[in-house]
Amino acid sequence: MTTLDDRPADAGPAATFDSLNPITGDVVAAHPVHSEEEVRAAVARAREEAVWWAALSFDERAEHLLRWKGVITRRLAQLAEQMHLETGKPDGDALLEAALAIDHLDWAAKHAEKLLKRRKVSSGLLMVNQSASVAYKPLGVVGVIGPWNYPVFTPMGSIAYALAAGNAVVFKPSEYTPGVGEWLARTFLEAVGRPVFSVVTGLGETGAALCRAGVDKVAFTGSTATGKRVMAACAETLTPVVIEAGGKDAVIVDHDADLEAAADAVLWGACANAGQTCTGVERVYVHEKVYDAFVAELVSQAEQVRAHDGPDTQLGPITMPKQMDVIRAHIDDALARGGRALVGGKDAVGERFVQPTILVDVPEDSLAVCEETFGPTVTVARVGTVEEAVRRTNATSYGLGSTVFSKARGMEIAERIRSGMTAINGVITFAGVPALPFGGVGDSGFGRIHGEDGLKEFTYAKAITQQRFKAALPLTSFKRTDKHEQQLVSLLTMLHGRGTTLPKLGKPVRRAR
Ligand code: NDP
Repeated sequence: MTTLDDRPADAGPAATFDSLNPITGDVVAAHPVHSEEEVRAAVARAREEAVWWAALSFDERAEHLLRWKGVITRRLAQLAEQMHLETGKPDGDALLEAALAIDHLDWAAKHAEKLLKRRKVSSGLLMVNQSASVAYKPLGVVGVIGPWNYPVFTPMGSIAYALAAGNAVVFKPSEYTPGVGEWLARTFLEAVGRPVFSVVTGLGETGAALCRAGVDKVAFTGSTATGKRVMAACAETLTPVVIEAGGKDAVIVDHDADLEAAADAVLWGACANAGQTCTGVERVYVHEKVYDAFVAELVSQAEQVRAHDGPDTQLGPITMPKQMDVIRAHIDDALARGGRALVGGKDAVGERFVQPTILVDVPEDSLAVCEETFGPTVTVARVGTVEEAVRRTNATSYGLGSTVFSKARGMEIAERIRSGMTAINGVITFAGVPALPFGGVGDSGFGRIHGEDGLKEFTYAKAITQQRFKAALPLTSFKRTDKHEQQLVSLLTMLHGRGTTLPKLGKPVRRAR
């Protein structure tokens, strides 16, 4: 982990910051604010580790990662407790989050070789004398900057995949969850014996320093606004970035949907983790034929859920105190502009907890419909057709996740939504499938974590051609003659001059006259 013990002797006491328990406000622990110099030192050390790590075989790396997975799994209760202390989330939610992260770590470790190792590709008729292959090589050191809302699952989507692809990782956790980040690095060191994965802690400046510390890629998860700052900092050194930013996810409920299941999914999607979920449900568009029945079901279910502090709680506190103002502003704006709160409302926002809030009749250009609320609130709107629902779903600058509840048209509707991921007749289920890429479009960012795309995100493609025999047509030589060029033209005419046969469909495509 990150005890940066090579500070100069005369450096004086290191600055620290406190992580706080959002339920009580008590200090959980103090953590170092790592300076720019210390972040650079951490990256330099990671670069040495990267050399050792990249030289291992895929099997050897997988063995290390699976050992780490075993340690995390056996100490799940300890990790969940740390997550609970720093975010306030209920233990059950912490367990679920960690369980998903463990599954991703397992998948990344076991699939890296198959997906990244050198494989042959067709060399084509013009280069028939060449054998062609591609492999995916590690970039070196990846800097991961993570948020506080899912302090294990979210950064592990980058950490596990970057490590499995052969990179070293330096992780800057959110200032709200530094202890979780340190826990992960500590257990990694215990399992692997070398700090291939390390942590630097601090505030936003430490994250900014990581962007400028010479890493080979930055994987950022956080708000769109910070994502832009990260990109700007990385642009100075042409450091590539993957941006996993916010969302304004919608659910479409068609007239043939299972309304009880849809209401259950909407309520959980909107309120789980106190609504502090990038792919959380924030808007719902319901077919007019079932609008009243759906709203009645949603209200009746929502009335059973309360945010409070206690061992049986389903809804924890708002982790970041300043988010309270955003949630309050969105509710106030919705109500001031003609919206109605069927559950919760103005009084839902307390000192540390926000109660579930179901808003209807909210104008489409209000804050609660347009901007990320990041609280346990949801707007529900009536639509005349599914087409209208799709249009309103897509009328956002974000495009992270989405959900469709429909018996007959789920797939068709899902294909028309502009978002990186869609769940049909379930909610956020895509995040739990390790083989599926995770990420968004527009203001939700770009690049992908998870799955094959997530592994490749932390690599560069290395293409190699190798001559198998001398070419009949010396195309890449000054020995090429007019005759060779005429032969090339004949070959081209034969290959491409007439209708082309599509490889899979076998359908001739005629050229337009
Ligand atoms: P922030 O954007 O505030 O912070 C994210 C991380 O960036 C933190 O570690 C933060 O450090 C760090 N940071 C802050 N300023 C800088 C800077 N100038 N340069 C580099 N790093 C910096 O997001 P939150 O932590 O509040 O997370 C909530 C947001 O994350 C929501 O918008 C949510 O939708 C999004 N999110 C997206 C996910 C996705 O996969 N698409 C998943 C989970 C969340 P510090 O905390 O110390 O300030």
